[in-house]
Amino acid sequence: MSRVYNFSAGPAVLPEEVLKEAAEEMFDYKGTGMSVMEMSHRSKAYQAIIDEAEADLRDLMNIPDNYKVLFLQGGASLQFAMIPMNLMKNKKAAHIVTGQWAKKAYQEAKIYGEAVEVASSADKTFSYIPDCSDLDIPEDADYVYICENNTIYGTKFKELPNTKGKILVSDVSSCFLSEPVDVTKYGVIYGGVQKNIGPAGTVIVIIREDLITEDTLPGTPTMMKYKIHADNGSMYNTPPCYNIYICGKVFKWIKKMGGLSAMKEHNEKKAKILYDFLDQSKLFKGTVEPKDRSLMNVPFVTGNEELDAKFVKEAKEAGFENLKGHRTVGGMRASIYNAMPIEGVEALVAFMKKFEEENM
Ligand SMILES: *Cc1c(COP(=O)(O)O)cnc(C)c1O
Repeated sequence: MSRVYNFSAGPAVLPEEVLKEAAEEMFDYKGTGMSVMEMSHRSKAYQAIIDEAEADLRDLMNIPDNYKVLFLQGGASLQFAMIPMNLMKNKKAAHIVTGQWAKKAYQEAKIYGEAVEVASSADKTFSYIPDCSDLDIPEDADYVYICENNTIYGTKFKELPNTKGKILVSDVSSCFLSEPVDVTKYGVIYGGVQKNIGPAGTVIVIIREDLITEDTLPGTPTMMKYKIHADNGSMYNTPPCYNIYICGKVFKWIKKMGGLSAMKEHNEKKAKILYDFLDQSKLFKGTVEPKDRSLMNVPFVTGNEELDAKFVKEAKEAGFENLKGHRTVGGMRASIYNAMPIEGVEALVAFMKKFEEENM
């Protein structure tokens, strides 16, 4: 059995320890005689799994008691609709558009009300985060929406926008648990788990209790009401049981690694190795404004499409998988989430150096 260095943007690398443990427990989870996949979600054993997962996440992120943690389905993309359906009381939302996921959320919100684009970085192919310190936020906006880490373009909000008192809603799919966060600054934090936490299809929503109400837009399906899921402990229907179990294991792994401050240190160290190399390379260059660089997704180019393709091909042959940039932007992208070991980034940089020497 051999493992590659997997730089996929998502679904993405998971800690080997977690995979091994899950494999060991596959046939017989803790003496139950069955796999977690086969277990009733109403069983004592499963209730313990989901309770522990929530408790560990609360502990890691220091989530205050007046926030609910929901484990839901439909990926991050279903939240693009659930957020307006549940929060658009005045039918108006302010959107900051910093990439494709932010744009998709903005377009979806328009189906339900007036979505106002208050800032954008589309003018420079989303290669930076706009200044959000003094935006023109409508008085009657229900919330301000951001995508905090832009997976495709490799930018990250280093400072949260000044929402002028409005609720902040943030998609953290690709920076979830990568560094400490002050939950109290947000109304809603949510993310698909397949980037940094677990198997695709599950989304975690951390939402302030007062935002969970019966007052949703007319026609909101039962399954898309936060209140239904909050009132039923994420078990209104059968939850994504196995996914939540894996997420729980990853939470424990992060705790063991030292929590979110330690994760941040680990991630900064890895990203620095790659960015330092890009900054001095004569062949490769990063595509993002240095001050807005993501610690998780690092896009780069050679400036020559053929050479980019050659690099991706040779890298794959050498055991570095999924380095091709997103289909809409081209070039390369190395996603270096929590579970990517520092050795993976060091090996990649050594490979890039060699490729540079051979192709200059
Ligand atoms: C991947 C991603 C999404 C979409 O996630 P799905 O689970 O496929 O719906 C949304 N937002 C961000 C920032 C992402 O990286």
